[in-house]
Amino acid sequence: MQPHSPPLATRLLEVIENDILPLTRQGVAAGNKVFGAAILRRDDLSLVHAATNQEHSNTCPMWHGEMVALHGFFALPDRPPEQECLLLSTHEPCPMCAAATAWCGIPQVFFLFDYQDTETQFSIPHDIAILRQLFAPATRLNYKNEFFAAAAIQSLALDTADTARIKNIYQQYDALSAIYQAEKEHNAIPLK
Ligand SMILES: [Zn+2]
Repeated sequence: MQPHSPPLATRLLEVIENDILPLTRQGVAAGNKVFGAAILRRDDLSLVHAATNQEHSNTCPMWHGEMVALHGFFALPDRPPEQECLLLSTHEPCPMCAAATAWCGIPQVFFLFDYQDTETQFSIPHDIAILRQLFAPATRLNYKNEFFAAAAIQSLALDTADTARIKNIYQQYDALSAIYQAEKEHNAIPLK
């Protein structure tokens, strides 16, 4: 990072607020889930590509925010090497997206909401269910593995402004989640 650039947690929260949430508001209004993601350069934390869930818009249940972000990243005509990038995910990447991140060679992952939040706060229990059903006895993502290191933003050094920002972001996601949940019976996503 540059000497005057914001600390890691602050920058990640800025990207969620300024680059991911605007896409997600549009996505949820179109019937998609609330999950978003972005690819950033690890050295200066500049944004490379931001995306949001398009399961409904693109009529494909694999278009999670991370998958859209990774696909868009590799489609960029002039992109940085994947080893020099990190994946920022609003929600802890599901088993599919975590595996995709490994396949894509992205060495670092940060997220704001974990699986438990996704299940309880967002009423979307499929991450934990898929992990248990397909990969038992695993019950959680291995945050330190040979492919990438993953961490919750809340585990980073936070100042009071970061904490206030997280609270504000939580409120925005609560509102978006309520919209999705109210409308989800009308979409054709297999795991709603
Ligand atoms: Zn996913």
